[in-house]
Amino acid sequence: AKAAGRNTYQMFTKEMHTAARQRLAIENSLRSAVTNDEFVLHYQPQLDPATGKLLGFEALVRWQSPDNGLVYPDRFIPVAEETGMILEIGRRVFEMACQQAARWRDAGYPSVRIAVNLSARQLRQPDLPEMLSGIMKECGADPEMIELEVTESMTMERPVESIRILGALKAMGIGLAIDDFGTGYSSLSYLKLFPVDKLKIDRSFVKDIEVDPDDAAIASATIAMAHTLGKKVVAEGVESQAQLDFLVQHGCDIIQGYFYSKPLAVEEAEQYLARHAQS
Ligand code: C2E
Ligand code: CA
Ligand code: CA
Ligand code: CA
Repeated sequence: AKAAGRNTYQMFTKEMHTAARQRLAIENSLRSAVTNDEFVLHYQPQLDPATGKLLGFEALVRWQSPDNGLVYPDRFIPVAEETGMILEIGRRVFEMACQQAARWRDAGYPSVRIAVNLSARQLRQPDLPEMLSGIMKECGADPEMIELEVTESMTMERPVESIRILGALKAMGIGLAIDDFGTGYSSLSYLKLFPVDKLKIDRSFVKDIEVDPDDAAIASATIAMAHTLGKKVVAEGVESQAQLDFLVQHGCDIIQGYFYSKPLAVEEAEQYLARHAQS
């Protein structure tokens, strides 16, 4: 028993060392990724289920690493958050999205919105509205082409401050959505005060929506409540016809998920835009 205990202990510390080393390695190469501008955006379509019309894309960041290939955000966003590198990455993400929106407009495509994810640290950057407005001007992007996604938990951490910042962004004409809705602890009284246009039902509620009565109840209550407050609802992670049918039946306005399309590299997104955005 003693030997087993020691082995377990050794294994544990070895794992910790490995984790710490891996972590440090990610941190170092992430630093050079920022310097060398190794980030790209993939674009996931958002459709109106009633008409099949493309309404917009969510921009999702990927790290094109020379050593590790395409790295997904779950692997590096947490490190970027902790180290503060997220501010620079987030700035670059916003700039790429604005450039893309302006390019598609200039190429004559019907206008679609590009939704960009904001991190908690960005939301608390004192000069966020000025910075974003500066980037939009530089890129020649109109605020109507851009939407920002902030998570429910991020906004509820400091609700009063969040309401003020979101109000400033909204006044600039940028669209706003609350992401991962249902996973935090919004109080209804606060939600009423949030100047956002959309709620995004989290994928975890969509996953079993046609078999789990709890998830079904949460999703349909969210849709009804959002509509009462004059907000639209986006469902994310929609993979099947059955999920789509349930959501449409309950009045969900916008659908995003593998059922329609996975996130697309920019050339593929442009082809999708050409095929689906009837003006
Ligand atoms: P999220 O904002 O909730 O984004 C949705 C995630 O679900 C994306 O993962 C997307 O690829 C995935 N997804 C979409 N449809 C489906 C589906 O039908 N089934 C399944 N199983 N998954 C689906 P991704 O791209 O790996 O991004 C993960 C998370 O990383 C995002 O979650 C977001 O929190 C964060 N993230 C991505 N890009 C950015 C960014 O530019 N800035 C910041 N701060 N965070 C980002
Ligand atoms: Ca999102
Ligand atoms: Ca989510
Ligand atoms: Ca359940």
